[in-house]
Amino acid sequence: MELIAIKAFTDNYIWMLHKDGQAIVVDPGDAAPVLHALKERRLELAAILVTHHHADHVGGLAELAPLLRQTETSPPIYGPAAERIPGPHIALAGGDRLSLLGQALRVLEVPGHTAGHIAYLIDAPSDGGEPILFCGDTLFSGGCGRLFEGTAAQMYNSLQTLAALPGGTRVCCAHEYTLSNLRFACAVEPGNKVLTDYQRWCEAQRAMDLPTLPSSIGRELAVNPFLRCEEVEVRHSALQWHDQHLTHGTSLIEPTPAQSALAAGASSIAVFACLRQWKNEFK
Ligand code: ZN
Ligand code: FE
Repeated sequence: MELIAIKAFTDNYIWMLHKDGQAIVVDPGDAAPVLHALKERRLELAAILVTHHHADHVGGLAELAPLLRQTETSPPIYGPAAERIPGPHIALAGGDRLSLLGQALRVLEVPGHTAGHIAYLIDAPSDGGEPILFCGDTLFSGGCGRLFEGTAAQMYNSLQTLAALPGGTRVCCAHEYTLSNLRFACAVEPGNKVLTDYQRWCEAQRAMDLPTLPSSIGRELAVNPFLRCEEVEVRHSALQWHDQHLTHGTSLIEPTPAQSALAAGASSIAVFACLRQWKNEFK
């Protein structure tokens, strides 16, 4: 069994898992790099997994579908039930289980980036290695997806679901956003030594044109500010940004309820919402 990150567009990864000449791919936004990878390794495409409906994740479906063996109902293309995925596919929801390449997969519901976003988890891969998570645009190394359709509370809860997985879980994200995420993470937590060490390692990887992924849940718990909303330094930085941000637009007013709430032990969701907003504006 081999797990490969196929590069697509400028910073997407289409994850491929293959075993005994059969491959599955996750979020093929573009068919060409997948076709190339299949040919290079003489693999047959056995199934396609889709995490959410964005074009950079489904754009290659139409061209790849004919490569799949047609089953009675539908070609083995799997996608979230709550989203519109182009072409015939099997609709999945949280808790669903499937078996591919002799691997048991389970579906996690992780709304936030999009309303029906799902992730795929292999708890016990047959290579005897750590679990494998395909999380699309929900969790990135050092960051998380933007809130296009969901709320901060939904995304926070989705990330908590992923954070609860075993620390060794291989985190296969759909984008190589790590370095820019880590620049932000360092602004939030300049005192995090694990973070600065990891940043140096990632810079070296990228300098050699190598992926920084897969990451692991354990590492993300140590470096990713969006999984660290309980940490004092993270809360403090989020609050400080929130204060400065508000003073610009609305000077000389009493602290808003949101501000005082954050100061006085705001929920982690409020901290998360601040971080997400801050990251959106971070240059
Ligand atoms: Zn997306
Ligand atoms: Fe994407």
